[in-house]
Parts: sequence; C-alpha cells; structure tokens
Amino acid sequence: MASRPSCPHCGSPLLKWLTPVGTSWGPHLFVCFNDDCDYYQRGWTVMEERFGRKVSYRHYLDPSTGATGPLPVWSSAALRGDIVPETDDPQGDEDGDARAE
Ligand SMILES: [Zn+2]
Repeated sequence: MASRPSCPHCGSPLLKWLTPVGTSWGPHLFVCFNDDCDYYQRGWTVMEERFGRKVSYRHYLDPSTGATGPLPVWSSAALRGDIVPETDDPQGDEDGDARAE
C-alpha cells in the first residue's frame, strides 16, 4: 500500500503538498498539480457559472484520513510553492499512525 497515489480524474501521480498551519487536514496532502487535469479544467467553468468567480480547484487526497476533495486555487501557479520535493523513499510513510518522534 506504499505506492504513490494517482489522480482518479487524469491518472497523474499526486504530489505531496504541505498543508497550511491551522487546517483540519493532516501535515500534508497529495494533490494533482496537472494543469491538463479534467477536474481542474472543469473547475474554472463550474466556479464561474456557479459563483461568478475566476477560481478553480485541484483534486486532493488526505493520506491521514483517506478523504478526497477539491483544493481551491486561483491560478495555475497557486500553491505550487508548498509542494514537497520527492525524495524517492521506497518506504513511504503512508501506512502510518506510528509516529516515532
Ligand atoms: Zn488530475
């Protein structure tokens, strides 16, 4: 179960993204940062039609709860600064509530 999660909408591997302080999420999420993702592309239209706003959202998976949902973004570049670089650790840490700190 340590394989990298992929986006159910476009199949791209999800990137680890550091969550902001004070959210109800875990320490990081897995987020689809593919600009060609159908979900993200459709988001612009949906949000404009529904709310008249130029925003969209990206698919996320919270590995600490298994929850998925939309992560709001206001541009293609938004939130990319908090992507955690992959270290290619084959162990991963997805399995865990074992926090040895
Ligand atoms: Zn996607």
